[in-house]
Amino acid sequence: MDRGLKIASLAYHDVTDDPSTSGLQRPGALPYKLGWRAFRAHLDALGAGPCTPTLVCDVPWTRAGRHLLLTFDDGGKSALSTGEELCRRGWRGHFFIVTSRIGTRTFLDASEIRHLRSCGHVVGSHSHTHPDIFRAQTPHRMAEEWRVSCAILGTLLGEQCVTASVPGGDISAAVLRSGANAGLRYLFTSEPRLGPGQADECWVLGRFTPKVGSSPHQVARLARFRGWTRARAVREIKVFARVALAPLYRWHVARQSRESAPSAAESGRRIARLGRARGPVPGAPRHAHRRLDPVARSVGLRPTRVPGVRARRVRRRVPAGAAREARATAPLRIAASGLADLEHGAAVRPCRRLHR
Ligand SMILES: [Zn+2]
Repeated sequence: MDRGLKIASLAYHDVTDDPSTSGLQRPGALPYKLGWRAFRAHLDALGAGPCTPTLVCDVPWTRAGRHLLLTFDDGGKSALSTGEELCRRGWRGHFFIVTSRIGTRTFLDASEIRHLRSCGHVVGSHSHTHPDIFRAQTPHRMAEEWRVSCAILGTLLGEQCVTASVPGGDISAAVLRSGANAGLRYLFTSEPRLGPGQADECWVLGRFTPKVGSSPHQVARLARFRGWTRARAVREIKVFARVALAPLYRWHVARQSRESAPSAAESGRRIARLGRARGPVPGAPRHAHRRLDPVARSVGLRPTRVPGVRARRVRRRVPAGAAREARATAPLRIAASGLADLEHGAAVRPCRRLHR
C-alpha cells in the first residue's frame, strides 16, 4: 500500500422521512436516520468536492491517491431509494446488510438486495444478527456472524461476499482478525481514519458516520480530506470512555438497542414462520433440534431433515418481545448444506475487481 493513499469513507444508515418504515426500530438508531432533504444536501455538498464517489474494488491500492467512498449500514428498506438517488448522480455505493433481518417489515428482501447489486452497488455483510457490542463477542460467535451472513449473501447474489462493515462500530484486534479469517477482503469500521490498514489479507477502512445533526458543510470538508484529525480525536475520547466505563456502556447500549415492540400481527407471523422453519442442523447434537433462521426461509433455504430426528412443533404464545427472543436464539443456526437450494439472482453484474 502506498502511504499517500487516502480514503474518505462516510457511513450513512437509513435515509427516510419516516424512521418507522426503514431499518432498526430502536432509540439508538434514530440519530443516524437522515431525512431526504438533509441527505440530498449532503450529496450536493459531496458532489461539489474534488472526488467522485467510487467503489472499494476500484481503488488502486498500490498508488498514492485520494478517494471518496459512500457506505450505508443495516440494509433497511430505504436503501433501495438511496441506491436510486446515487445512480441518478452517476455514483455507486456500498450497502451492508444485516442478513437475519432480510425480508422483515423494515428491511430489504432478497429481490431488493439483488436489484441493488444489479445497479452496480457493492453489497456486503453487516453481520448476521447485528450484535450490539461486536468486540465483546467470543471469537467463535464473531466467526459465525461473518460466516452465516456471507453465506446467505453469497448464495443470494451468486458471488462471494468479500466486503463488510462492523455492526455497532466497536472493534478490537480480534474483530479485525475475525473478518480477515472469514475471507473478507475489505472491512469497514467506524473509526474516522483516512489511511487504510491491513489485517492479514483484509484491508481495514475507517469511516466517519454522519448523523442527523451533521451539516452539509461538515461532510463537504470531510470529502475534501479536512477535519479527519478532529473527528478521530473525538472518536478516541468516546472509545476511551466506553472501555473505562464498560458496565455503564453495556447498560447504555442495552437501553438504546431495545427494539420497539412489533405489532401483535407481526409477532404472530414471525413466530409462525419460526415454527414452520424448524429443522435440525447437520452435525448438531441430537437433543439440539434447532430452528432454522426464518430469514434463511425467506430467501429460499430449506431445513435439512436428519433421519431419526423428529421435528418438534413449536407451541408458543406471542408475548411482547417474542420476535426479539426469537432473533436472539435462532439466527446462527443455519443448515449450510441448504444454501445450495437458493436460486441465484438474475442480471447481477459482478464487480470484477472485487474477486481478483
Ligand atoms: Zn448497524
